[in-house]
Amino acid sequence: MNTRFDAIIIGTGQAGPSLAGRLAGAGMKVAIVERKLFGGTCVNTGCIPTKTMVASAYAVQMARRAADFGVVIDGGVHVDMARMKARHDAISGVSRKGVAHWLEGMKNCTVYRGQARFESPWEIGVGGESLASDRIFINVGGRAVVPSMPGLDQIQFLTNSSMMGVDFLPKHLLIVGGSYVGLEFGQMFRRFGSEVTVVEMAPRLTHREDEDVSDAIREILEGEGIRIRLNAKCIGFSRRGGEILTHMDCSETPKEIDCTHVLLAVGRRPNTDDLGLDRAGIEVDERGYILVDDELRTNVPGIWALGDCNGRGAFTHTSYNDFEIVAANLLDHDPRRVSDRIAAYALYIDPPLGRAGMTDAEVRRTGRKALVGKRPMTKVSRAVEKGETQGFMKVVVDAETLQILGAAILGTGGDEVIHSILDVMYAKAPYTVIERAMHIHPTVSELIPTMLGELKPLAP
Ligand SMILES: Cc1cc2nc3c(=O)[nH]c(=O)nc-3n(C[C@H](O)[C@H](O)[C@H](O)COP(=O)(O)OP(=O)(O)OC[C@H]3O[C@@H](n4cnc5c(N)ncnc54)[C@H](O)[C@@H]3O)c2cc1C
Repeated sequence: MNTRFDAIIIGTGQAGPSLAGRLAGAGMKVAIVERKLFGGTCVNTGCIPTKTMVASAYAVQMARRAADFGVVIDGGVHVDMARMKARHDAISGVSRKGVAHWLEGMKNCTVYRGQARFESPWEIGVGGESLASDRIFINVGGRAVVPSMPGLDQIQFLTNSSMMGVDFLPKHLLIVGGSYVGLEFGQMFRRFGSEVTVVEMAPRLTHREDEDVSDAIREILEGEGIRIRLNAKCIGFSRRGGEILTHMDCSETPKEIDCTHVLLAVGRRPNTDDLGLDRAGIEVDERGYILVDDELRTNVPGIWALGDCNGRGAFTHTSYNDFEIVAANLLDHDPRRVSDRIAAYALYIDPPLGRAGMTDAEVRRTGRKALVGKRPMTKVSRAVEKGETQGFMKVVVDAETLQILGAAILGTGGDEVIHSILDVMYAKAPYTVIERAMHIHPTVSELIPTMLGELKPLAP
């Protein structure tokens, strides 16, 4: 015997709860299943706790720099790690409980706790019960990749999830992976007071960004005393007394590094391996991501996949946008598509990197004629006043249509400022719209029109 619903949602990440709200609000009888923590990765082990920790790291950094601003702090400055952890636990906890209470109190919605598995294309098993529906929405997210590196089984390593339990200061944190997750943790723990080494297999950090962005990020992090080892091949581990010895064949010395803790930040994998997808005939790619079309439908009619598990985005805003696309198509007769959206994200080191659209390298690969504008943050008066002049901003424009193709703002406020460019990109307006706009002084945004007034041809 199974219990029938108008819709079943698996996972309470960034798409599931909002979709439950829309479907239940439209009068459908909805079931939502969660196996672990309400709110998923962002709320519990991702964006919210890490950005809360980044705020602690910024506070201690500003305290250390207090004298630069004429501020006197008598006595030393250090981080109380237990209180830092208590702060991010509390902030995540409010969100987690908020999601749980919202779903539990939602009219027409039944919450199931447990591991959901497909029994057939229209049936889900959870905790000995069977639920059935003609509409099933998969929002199961992902988890940290644990690579097969020699010696990894002999050491205790950390991932973004177990980092949430760290209420002490690691003496020397070695981070495998020089991309978004690794660099955010790296800078914050360096600021908390740990020695930090970042080991990256690629020849540069954040290798999907343009080289000038990667180089500037490296300079910022090395300037704070983070050691960076690039081109690390054949990474392996062994124990030496109480310490962990990390072996690598790097283009840069040394080839072995002692550390006390290892954080793996080498990528994410979708939570699709224990979902019984084969029993529903749902197709995945070679990495386990569920294949979807432009409206997020899987190959099986009546089954959709939203969020990180479909490989079409790896962010909270892409998952939430997936919810908006599915809800618009199902409930509003509004044909929204994944291909309507423009890539946008931020890297929350300090100063942050805000990104929209294509990199210069991607624009070059299209072969089109383009113009580029660039301005160092040393020439942005707000940055000078704040004493935060690291980084630069740049924008690339199509020379024929005059539309903005992409932008990177690595500098103070970059995560917010990027939106003035992103919104003009969505409007498909020519760059001259921002070039002629009057922006507020003194802000970082006020220099965007100036930068756009100084465009030069993009070098091939
Ligand atoms: C350290 C870190 C920092 C990040 N920072 C940012 C950031 O600043 N900005 C940003 O936009 N993104 C950030 N992200 C990415 C962001 O967290 C994810 O993109 C986002 O949470 C994905 O949401 P989702 O809806 O796909 O699924 P998730 O949030 O992962 O939720 C999936 C849910 O499904 C549940 N589930 C899985 N399988 C089953 C099953 N079989 N049965 C029942 N329940 C199941 C899980 O328990 C989980 O609760 C960060 C990620 C990490 C790791």
